[in-house]
Amino acid sequence: MLSDIEIAQGCQMRPITEVAAAAGLDADDLELYGKYKAKLSADVWTKVKEKENGKLVLVTAINPTPAGEGKTTTSVGLGQALCKQGKNAIIALREPSLGPVFGIKGGAAGGGYAQVVPMEDINLHFTGDMHAITAANNLLCAMLDNHMQQGNLLNIDPRRIVFTRVMDMNDRALRNITIGLGGKVNGVPREDHFMITVASEVMAILCLAADLDDLKKRFGDILVAYSYTGKPIYARDLHAEGAMTALMKDAIKPNLIQTLEGTPCLMHGGPFANIAHGCNSVQATKLALKLGDIAITEAGFGADLGAEKFMDIKCRKAGLAPDCIVLVATVRALKYNGGVAKADLNQPNMDALKHGICNLDAHLDNMKKFGVPVVVAVNAFPTDTDEEMDFIREHCAERGVRVALSEVFAKGGEGGQALADEVLAVLDEGKADFHMLYEDSLPLEDKIRKIAKEIYGALGVTIAPAAKKELANITEMGYGHLPVCVAKTQYSLSDDASLLGRPTEFVVNVRTARLAAGAGFVVVETGSIMTMPGLPKVPAAEKIDVDSNGKITGLF
Ligand code: ADP
Ligand code: MG
Repeated sequence: MLSDIEIAQGCQMRPITEVAAAAGLDADDLELYGKYKAKLSADVWTKVKEKENGKLVLVTAINPTPAGEGKTTTSVGLGQALCKQGKNAIIALREPSLGPVFGIKGGAAGGGYAQVVPMEDINLHFTGDMHAITAANNLLCAMLDNHMQQGNLLNIDPRRIVFTRVMDMNDRALRNITIGLGGKVNGVPREDHFMITVASEVMAILCLAADLDDLKKRFGDILVAYSYTGKPIYARDLHAEGAMTALMKDAIKPNLIQTLEGTPCLMHGGPFANIAHGCNSVQATKLALKLGDIAITEAGFGADLGAEKFMDIKCRKAGLAPDCIVLVATVRALKYNGGVAKADLNQPNMDALKHGICNLDAHLDNMKKFGVPVVVAVNAFPTDTDEEMDFIREHCAERGVRVALSEVFAKGGEGGQALADEVLAVLDEGKADFHMLYEDSLPLEDKIRKIAKEIYGALGVTIAPAAKKELANITEMGYGHLPVCVAKTQYSLSDDASLLGRPTEFVVNVRTARLAAGAGFVVVETGSIMTMPGLPKVPAAEKIDVDSNGKITGLF
């Protein structure tokens, strides 16, 4: 089989104006970035506002192997499959960060015959949204440090600055740095940190903002530091929100691209799924619902993190409600959850599969709590056996859950027909009765406890004294009504990556809590969460090249 980039480069793309026309958009609605990418102008919303919403399909997954489960691939393939059946389906996805592109091999634009294109552009710079976010974030940092330099009227305590610089690159040497050295004219010396751009609150805000005015208000609400007397200092106190928003005036517009089969895809925003909510922008999802009869969207990591946050944060904030959940599973990940080592996942192993299927059950039980019907999509790998697939099929039948084999990686939309049929059946039945896991009014500690017990299956929660104090402080500041965004490992339902399957005898340990007032959630960290990744021993960057005609090679 060809590599992802070879398949993508072999694709005869349609001009983006044609893709747009199929979605009911004309030239006036587009701001072109070359022939194959466009941003949707702000006027599109006015045009479609009164239209009825389509159905919303959320793609999520069981706890993955370190190689990923294929949520993006399945989302893209399902969109292609529905369009093949003549349905008006639109996909809404996160846009990739540059960091992972040069780090460990693995794309963010789908795979095989279920990809979005132009894949090189999407993975490298795209329409510049990441750079705009980086600039807006770092402008706020520069203004903060300058404020201290110029007399520090706000009395900012340099030891209590909570907003950090970002860069869209995996660069571990910048995790902990000292700035402002060199004497009086060169700033106030202090410890600082870099995160990768997608971990910035600016990214989370972009993805939750309703429009430009809302974006500006949320930027103003970012908590940046505390004063020597413990008073919170917000971005608005530094008068930064106007210029930050100006830098983002184009980044706020959703990007339109296409799949290998010409299906429209809105790719916009891409926050981390641990310290942020891990979903593409609300604007892209809402536009997909207006432009399509069926909108397909993805949430990062497994359903314990991504789907929970999709529903408890994104849907809560944006008034969205999914009609169907596609839960992606692979035989490989079920075996991994059954205790098989990563290196042996290609061998058939029924015992491990029977052992690991409890992980699928946990996520099925969890999704029931949100009242949304589920279709299990088994993302097919060449190493899967019929016996293994039959077992999963029977298991789902016993539970009364719809299941389909998805072969979109190998066959594109054609390989997603069975999955498309099951999804359409769920949408036709219209049985979704969506509700969130908890009320706004539940105290922050109880929200954490509820997620840990009901979704992760924990016995309970321990909260470190510093986190407890911060949660009380956040509540005191008037933010106790916000949803919580739990940062934890994606490899286990628990906060310990080594506990596979469906662990039961564990407690979740909350280490820190932090207010993201602009984004509108409270981040609680379990374990130590990496917000600035490093490069591996042999970075993927060593293999990436471009020839004299501008043709890129080595990108996945
Ligand atoms: P996720 O969105 O869950 O992280 P992706 O769809 O991005 O997963 O897929 C992760 C990686 O696995 C990608 O490199 C993709 O090409 C590959 N992949 C996905 N599905 C398959 C499959 N069925 N067979 C082989 N490789 C696959
Ligand atoms: Mg993905």
